[in-house]
Amino acid sequence: MTEILTFNGDDVERYASHLQDVARAVAAGHLGTAQQLLAPIAGEVWVGKLSANTRQSAADVLAKPAARIRRISDDRLRAQVFIRDGFRCTSCGGRAIPRSILVALHDLFPAELPYDRHYGRGKVHPVFWALAPEADHILAHSRGGANDLENLTTLHASCNTQKSDAEVAPIPRYGGLESWDGLTSYYSALIVAGAGQVRPRYHRDWSRRLSPS
Ligand SMILES: [Zn+2]
Repeated sequence: MTEILTFNGDDVERYASHLQDVARAVAAGHLGTAQQLLAPIAGEVWVGKLSANTRQSAADVLAKPAARIRRISDDRLRAQVFIRDGFRCTSCGGRAIPRSILVALHDLFPAELPYDRHYGRGKVHPVFWALAPEADHILAHSRGGANDLENLTTLHASCNTQKSDAEVAPIPRYGGLESWDGLTSYYSALIVAGAGQVRPRYHRDWSRRLSPS
């Protein structure tokens, strides 16, 4: 286990590139190669703080899916926000990978990519903070912002919570001209390779929401 306290924009892109290579290898049927490709980032766990001064930490929010879902009511809408924004964070411009796809990679490689649905400190690989997007209100829901596509934007979980956090370096803005689909084109291959046996309904539902149509 390697404890990770901080990451920056270069790390976000490095993680995205690693996972893209891993997903590509899985889709090609090379699980052993995929596991080797994961080696440089295998077993990392996040032990940093992302929201030291906010009234509620992101981990708390993520640990209470019911509360989160009440605000951003439906998963289909969240998926549409990510698709519209090209699976990029609108704050830093960096690549994002939907949490369900990161979970699928965890299901295939649990030791290499630790995951805990309550985001317990030291139990989750930093990619879940660095790459997973949230659909966040542009005008806060509490100030009357609507729960619709126009008022929602894609933000990394980390970018969504780091405003008041001195421990996380600002993530630089990336141009992001190369095409990127959040690894959604590999999702069915990850499901077939074994993730679908671990969480059949979860992955079936999310792959449906994330497929372009
Ligand atoms: Zn970001």
